Amino acid sequence: MMAKKEKKISIIVPCFNEEEALPFFYEKITEVLSSLKEDYELILVNDGSTDGTLKVMKELSAKDQHIVYLSFSRNFGKESAMYSGLCNAEGDYIGFIDADLQHPPVLIKQMLEALKTGEYDCAACRRVDRKGDSKIRTWFARKFYKLINLISDAQMVDGAGDFRLMKRDMAEAIIAMSEYNRFSKGIFSWVGFNTYWIEYENVERVAGTTSWSFWGLAKYAIDGIVNFSNAPLDLASFFGLLTTFFAFIYLIFIIIKYALFGDPVQGWATLICVILLMGGMQLFALGIIGQYIGKTYMEVKNRPHYIVSESNKKELKKIK
Ligand code: UDP
Ligand code: MG
Repeated sequence: MMAKKEKKISIIVPCFNEEEALPFFYEKITEVLSSLKEDYELILVNDGSTDGTLKVMKELSAKDQHIVYLSFSRNFGKESAMYSGLCNAEGDYIGFIDADLQHPPVLIKQMLEALKTGEYDCAACRRVDRKGDSKIRTWFARKFYKLINLISDAQMVDGAGDFRLMKRDMAEAIIAMSEYNRFSKGIFSWVGFNTYWIEYENVERVAGTTSWSFWGLAKYAIDGIVNFSNAPLDLASFFGLLTTFFAFIYLIFIIIKYALFGDPVQGWATLICVILLMGGMQLFALGIIGQYIGKTYMEVKNRPHYIVSESNKKELKKIK
């Protein structure tokens, strides 16, 4: 029998309708992981897929004991899938990777090397281009990073996704951040630790389609801002003060004008403009407040992040 390997690597793979990509992915990643000195587990999380993803996972796990699969009772989203993987990972090094081979598995080797130098707690990959993405999407993404880094308390790196490997300590810190509204990019940066960056070129999906629509991404961007910044609330207060100030000046202007020239009743158009402008701004500010209250409401309910309905793991955190 082979000597027991010392350290263990856990690689977490969120999968949503990845029936086609999964077999390719499994082959590629196994090639990389089995060449390492460390022992490993491959945690496949089935995030409520509606295709044969679970079946593929079961088949793979039947022939390979490195595979742990967790299957959710419904689609909870990638963030929840990642969280469930973290909660159930046993490794000393824990990483995330997408199932569509957009994250080249070979980079795991480089990430591991970086961690083993002892200088870093986390090694993360960032793509340096956005090949395959549309121009508008790229433009919005760039602007989003500019904005969020300006106003939030966690710095986010453009092109950095969830493809990373970290030490146990950092993983524990992330588990401890048990917020319901999860925005991983922000969470990774918020917990701190030393990160080593590896750059790579964007790769297109091997199979299947992305589950992100443009509006989905826009909503995600808003989530990121609301989760890590109170700047929109400050902005609402600022504009409130500003309009009050101008309204006051205008009031004085009208009084003086009346005293000098008489006839205050004039300017229906001005009135309508002001009313509409104020109404619009008030609704906008209410909307901003609503966003925060909505998030707070979800946090307060303290619902579980995920529910596992099926797995081959014995000691399992089924609901968390
Ligand atoms: N994914 C998931 N749950 C979802 C959506 C996506 O687990 O609700 C997984 C998906 O299977 C893939 C990864 O998250 O492994 C990235 O998804 P996708 O490729 O659709 O996003 P993109 O690469 O376009 O950002
Ligand atoms: Mg993808």
